[in-house]
Amino acid sequence: MIIGCHLSTGAGFSRAVDNAGRLGADAFQYFPKNPRSYRIKAVDRHAWEKEGRLARERGLVTVGHSAYVTNLSTADPALRETTIASIVNELEICEAYGTPWLVVHCGRHMGEGWEIGRRRMVEAVDEVMRRFQGRCQLLLENTAGQGSEIGRTVDELLSIHEALESRRRVGFCLDSCHAFASGMLEPGAYERFAAEVRRPEFAGYLRVVHFNDSKGGAGEQVDRHALLGQGRMGALLVEMLRDPFFQALPVIIETPVAQEDDYAAEIEKARRWAMGEDSHQEGGEAAPLVATGQGRKTEQTGAKPSRAKKPGRKPAGG
Ligand SMILES: [Zn+2]
Ligand SMILES: [Zn+2]
Repeated sequence: MIIGCHLSTGAGFSRAVDNAGRLGADAFQYFPKNPRSYRIKAVDRHAWEKEGRLARERGLVTVGHSAYVTNLSTADPALRETTIASIVNELEICEAYGTPWLVVHCGRHMGEGWEIGRRRMVEAVDEVMRRFQGRCQLLLENTAGQGSEIGRTVDELLSIHEALESRRRVGFCLDSCHAFASGMLEPGAYERFAAEVRRPEFAGYLRVVHFNDSKGGAGEQVDRHALLGQGRMGALLVEMLRDPFFQALPVIIETPVAQEDDYAAEIEKARRWAMGEDSHQEGGEAAPLVATGQGRKTEQTGAKPSRAKKPGRKPAGG
């Protein structure tokens, strides 16, 4: 299983590649440029291709993440142009590194309603993909539904995606914290969520999972990540990692660690959960994974550990 985390490239992409190895990550996500700015960065294709190759030679999967400031549904024409140019620039940077995907947040309708927010976002994404003709794909991330965010549910994501001319070059990224916050993933109802994400129009385009616990409660529409096992999601996180559907996708942890080195423990924890070696014990509002009733075996406990995939690194070059 491919498990990694978000890493800084402030000291250079190659440094992030080294750090990923040190932390036991099979993948890492990075900001192609300053996440708080629209400023365009000059693309140094030659140097970056080399660094990207280094990452692949070490068996690392890389994922780009677009700037936070982006609102793909903005009504302001000047801001819209700046946003589109900024995302095209990020795609070009990812392309140079050989990164296959750039994750972007869905838009905010700013009080004008879902339908207008959706239409503006569809037009903006199509314009981005008209200007960018490389191989890197844009991934639309589900939102917590905080404020006027659109893209809270599989239905909303599909409604955006199906309207895109550029549909084939645009996929999805699913964030566990956002799914919990938006009400898509509810305590005691994992199966409903599992069925929802398996809808073929969605599953066929889902490329990356963001794996975070949540400081906010179920359905509270608060986008605040928590360290794994220290938020409100309880056993739902373990259920996700033990679901073969998610085991087949690259999983990126973006939790509020005090320092990057602490991701080693987060990754280790996620691997244990995926292996079924460690049932969830640390609170959370969701029901415990392992049934407490004596002598009553649940499907999950029956499916337990040893048959799960071995953790560890992908073979180099694989
Ligand atoms: Zn995320
Ligand atoms: Zn978030």
